[in-house]
Amino acid sequence: MSWDRNVIIKSASEIAIMREAGRINALALAAARELIRPGVTTAELDAAAEEIIRRHGAIPTFKGVPGPYPYPAATTISINDELVHGIPGKRKLCEGDIVSVDCGTTFEGFVGDSAFTTGVGIISPAAQRLIEVTEKALQIGIDQLRVGNRVGDVGYAIEMYVEGQGYHLTRIYTGHGVGREMWEGPQVPNFGRKGHGLRLRPGMVVALEPMVLIGTPETRVLPDEWTVASADGSLTCHFEHTVAITDQGQVILTLP
Ligand code: MG
Ligand code: MG
Repeated sequence: MSWDRNVIIKSASEIAIMREAGRINALALAAARELIRPGVTTAELDAAAEEIIRRHGAIPTFKGVPGPYPYPAATTISINDELVHGIPGKRKLCEGDIVSVDCGTTFEGFVGDSAFTTGVGIISPAAQRLIEVTEKALQIGIDQLRVGNRVGDVGYAIEMYVEGQGYHLTRIYTGHGVGREMWEGPQVPNFGRKGHGLRLRPGMVVALEPMVLIGTPETRVLPDEWTVASADGSLTCHFEHTVAITDQGQVILTLP
């Protein structure tokens, strides 16, 4: 995998800056989360996140990211069947929706990247279970981000757990190294072979992000050319943290 040549080891002082980027990012996500209720627009959530980022002297990483056209917002907000990369706008959240908010913050040149999914009002038991399984999958993956483990051990653990729960993981979109760039090596798929792949070393920082689908692993890109949704319209879910791998253990950088 060509990404794996682009693994950049971070010093303790660089990780400290990344911790601050991650903290600001967590505050931005919390501001968006606080507004989630039926009737709020996804643009309002995005504006709240961006305001927090800028108030801390940081930059919304996602804005202007190259793609079919430069990404236009600070967050990606994906509802129900939408898995990732939904563009905030006039769409209003409805009772029973599940909504994923993904955000990136650049602070002093370093990026924090994280995402959560939550329900709007009262949600179905199926949606609740999907959220719980995806959040636990992220924790199971983080537990494997240990010095000496391999990238395949991380993906294997996530895959075994999620598929054991009867759900699916996209093969196309993956976790990734993160640092001065939002996407660095290594690529960290949410599936893998135990004992295979790049060995994890102290100073690696990874954005781990299980993306779970109820129906099938297949996705499609919507006409806006950014939003990725499940091919069959089934519910999807996404959680993400930026995590530093150190000799003292893994450190989640994207906490408030
Ligand atoms: Mg993200
Ligand atoms: Mg990411």
